[in-house]
Amino acid sequence: MMALPSIESLDLKGRRLFLRVDFNVPIAGGRATDDTRVRAALPTLRHAIDRGARVILASHLGRPAGRRTEEFRMSPVARCLADLLGRPILKLDDCVGEATRQTCLALADGETVLLENLRFHPGEEAGDPAFARELASLAEVYVNDAFGAAHRAHASITGVPALLPSAAGFLLLREVDYLGRALAEPRRPFVLVAGGAKVSDKVAVLEKLLDRLDLLVVGGAMAYTFLAARGDAVGASRVEAPALEAAREILRRAAGRGLEVLLPDDHVVAERFEEGAPTRVVEGPIPEGWVGLDIGPATATRYAQWLAGAGTVLWNGTLGVSEWRLAQEGTRRIAEALAESGAVSIVGGGDTAAAVRELGHAAAMSHVSTGGGASLEFLEGRVLPGLAALARREAPRVPAGA
Ligand code: AMP
Repeated sequence: MMALPSIESLDLKGRRLFLRVDFNVPIAGGRATDDTRVRAALPTLRHAIDRGARVILASHLGRPAGRRTEEFRMSPVARCLADLLGRPILKLDDCVGEATRQTCLALADGETVLLENLRFHPGEEAGDPAFARELASLAEVYVNDAFGAAHRAHASITGVPALLPSAAGFLLLREVDYLGRALAEPRRPFVLVAGGAKVSDKVAVLEKLLDRLDLLVVGGAMAYTFLAARGDAVGASRVEAPALEAAREILRRAAGRGLEVLLPDDHVVAERFEEGAPTRVVEGPIPEGWVGLDIGPATATRYAQWLAGAGTVLWNGTLGVSEWRLAQEGTRRIAEALAESGAVSIVGGGDTAAAVRELGHAAAMSHVSTGGGASLEFLEGRVLPGLAALARREAPRVPAGA
C-alpha cells in the first residue's frame, strides 16, 4: 500500500500552511445545507492551529468553469466553518494575486483564512503549472485533506505538492486506511453492496473486486440492468442499455467462480417515475409499464440476513430512490442490517452517504467516505494523482558493498 507522509511529520510552528480541503458542500439560499465535509476537515485544521501554523484553507465549490460566479463564492462555507469553530473566519476575495499574498504573509501563528473558490481560475482544473506556482507562493508547507478531489490532477492537488514539503491530513489518511485495508486484507466474508442509478460508474469496481468478493449484493436501478441482462422482465424500470453486456459478463464470471450474486426478487413499483405516484409490491417479473423504485420487503429481509454474517461490507449506491419516502425502505433496511452487524462497514458515494446520514445510521458505520468518484477510483485500483503527489519517494538505494 502507498505510504503517505502524515501532517504530524511536518514542522508547522510559525509556517504558512496551504491546507487543501474539500469544502464542496451543497449550498441553498446562501447557506451550507450539509456541513459534513467541513466537519470532516476539523481534526486536521485544529491540529494545524494548535501547532501554531498560519493556515491558508483552499477548496473548490461547485462547477464555476473557471469564472468568478456569485453563486459559487465561498462565503457561506466561511460562515459554516466560523459556526463550527466558534470564531470568525476571514474569507479572501481571491485565491491568488498580490492582495491575497499580502494577507497570507501577514498571518499570525494559529490564524486561519479561507481562500476564494479555486475553480474561479481555469488554471486549477487545467492543472496549470503557473497557477500552481502562484498558489504555492502563498505558503511554505502543504497538506492535502481533500479526499473527494484526490482523483483529479488539478493544480491544488498535484501541482502545489510538487513545489512544497507536503503531507496528508487526518481525513485523507483515514480514507486511504479504510479503503486500502478493505482492498488488501478484508475481514471475510467480504461483501459488496452495489446500487444506485449509474451502472457504468461502478462496472470497473465490480470487475476489479469480483475475484476477491465472497458475496455480491445488487439493488437500486442497477439491479434492473442486471435482471434485464439475465433475461427477466423489468417493465419500464431504468435500464442502462450500454452496460447490459458488462452486466452479463459479470454474471458469467461470478457463476464461473461460484460467487453468489443476490438480485431482488420482489420490488416496490409505481405506474410512473414520479414522487408520490401510488406504489405496490410485486413478486417476480415487473409488469409492462411499471417502474421499479426500490427492492421489495422480502428482498430486504433476505439481504439483511446475508449481511448479518458479513466480515467487511463495502456499500456504494442506494437500494432504491432513497430521496423519496415511499422508496427508501430498502436502503433503510440495509443500513439497519449493517448497523446491527459486527462487520466493518464502509459507505461510499455522495448519495449513499447522504441517505445513511438522513436515516440516522451514519454513526453506526465503520467509515462513511467523503469521496464519491475518488472512492470508486481508489477501489478500482487506480493510483489517485493526489495521493501519488504525496507518496514518499523511495530513498535512493545504496548498492550493497558500497
Ligand atoms: P449513484 O449516483 O449511481 O450511486 O445513484 C444514486 C441514485 O440512484 C439516487 O439518487 C437514487 O435515487 C437513484 N436510484 C436508486 N434506485 C433507483 C431506481 N430504482 N430507479 C431510479 N433511480 C434509482
